[in-house]
Amino acid sequence: MTATATTPARVLVLCPSTGAPVSTVLKLREPALQALRGEYAFRCEKCGEIHRWSKDDAWLEAERRR
Ligand SMILES: [Zn+2]
Repeated sequence: MTATATTPARVLVLCPSTGAPVSTVLKLREPALQALRGEYAFRCEKCGEIHRWSKDDAWLEAERRR
């Protein structure tokens, strides 16, 4: 399997309760993430609470942070 820039990736945000990255329910490509408007909510798999986030809080799992 080859990873490409056009493969949808899980959208991650920081859990405000644990400080750990958690995945949201969304899987997007980078242009779709940048095009998001407004707030989204999901149930956190780390702490079980509902977190709200917008695109400025999020990044794609496939993205390498150096
Ligand atoms: Zn959480």
